[in-house]
Amino acid sequence: MSTIEPVFRIIPTTQNYDWGKKGSDSKVAEFASGAGIPGFSLNESAPYAELWMGTHVKSPSGVVDKEQNLAQILTMNPSLIGDRVSQRFDTTNGNLPFLFKVLAIGKALSIQTHPDKKTSEQLHAQQPKVYTDPNHKPEMALALTDFKALCGFMPIPRIAEYVKDVPEFNALIDPSTVTEFLNCTHSSELEQKAVLKKFFSELMTADVTKIATQLQTLVARYRSGGQKHAEEGIKDLVLTLNEQYPGDVGVFCAFMLNYVRMTPGQAIFLGAGEPHAYVQGDIMECMANSDNVIRAGLTPKPKDIPNLVSVLTYMASDWDKHMVKPVDVTPRTRKYDPPIPDFTVLQVHTPKGETESHEAIQGPSIAIATEGSGRVSWGGGDLDLQAGSVIFVGAETKIDITAGDSNLVVYRAYVAA
Ligand SMILES: [Zn+2]
Repeated sequence: MSTIEPVFRIIPTTQNYDWGKKGSDSKVAEFASGAGIPGFSLNESAPYAELWMGTHVKSPSGVVDKEQNLAQILTMNPSLIGDRVSQRFDTTNGNLPFLFKVLAIGKALSIQTHPDKKTSEQLHAQQPKVYTDPNHKPEMALALTDFKALCGFMPIPRIAEYVKDVPEFNALIDPSTVTEFLNCTHSSELEQKAVLKKFFSELMTADVTKIATQLQTLVARYRSGGQKHAEEGIKDLVLTLNEQYPGDVGVFCAFMLNYVRMTPGQAIFLGAGEPHAYVQGDIMECMANSDNVIRAGLTPKPKDIPNLVSVLTYMASDWDKHMVKPVDVTPRTRKYDPPIPDFTVLQVHTPKGETESHEAIQGPSIAIATEGSGRVSWGGGDLDLQAGSVIFVGAETKIDITAGDSNLVVYRAYVAA
């Protein structure tokens, strides 16, 4: 067995889902072009939705100059993951606890949620083809460009405003449930959750013909400028979603979920059971190593409304409750640390000609350069970086990130026990 350096170049994979941004407009395509993916050639008319960096069984990353993929290399070299992380997480078969991605969203992704660990195990056992692994999938989205998303239920009084003001929306719900919902603003949190669940489940299971008819009426009203004050902020979103997914019940989720417009550097975290849909923009995404998605709308893929309705937390709050506020570790390195142990992400801005040093981390990490050029060096060597270069850094390895003749931006995901 040949020895391997603690830092090496890995080859990410792309996913060409149809919601991806097309051609060179997509950050995924831009990075894939710089990542040295064998045989990759950019097609301007193809969608480039996701770039995966990690060991997930569906699409593990390769390793430059090795026959084995990243998971196989880590199985052969367990010290790269490190004892502390393998004691805390299931790292069997070289499995990293996290999966790091770039997403380029041209068209809204499905309304979805991710099950917790226990539910994931059950779903995977019952439907292994749909729920492909037994892991949970809390995720963090960090904006690379302006980014729009639907995220978590709005506070009840704000949903109630739409229930009152939008006849096409409340027509889909049983009148007694509408009354119950409008009267619940003073109830206990537990009762509010129960009413929200009932209301949401009636919406998601409403008759498809009725949904399509009400959407047509709603869209016609908006097009003729008939929106009420409360609808001003949401009108364009409704029209866009309906253009992308005509007649889909998910369009009505605009009246229940927070619509967030983020600027580069802002991040949100979505724990188990939080409903969300990414609408537009390019992001870094980090998640527990899983592909388990329960879909409810805005998708041609199979929906699973019963499981979706049953796993949601029904927490209703402003979107800032989902925000991850970064902390400056040094003037050049910001840390995004969501409230779960599975991953943390660093954003590193190194001005041209300068070096940022990262002390050794107890666990494994994956880093991608997103702007500029430079190099990464460690005790035993160095590697060039350009936009799209992806590297693996083994546990307990100190690295230096040096910018070349332009500012260098690197995102680094890691797990530490
Ligand atoms: Zn998601």
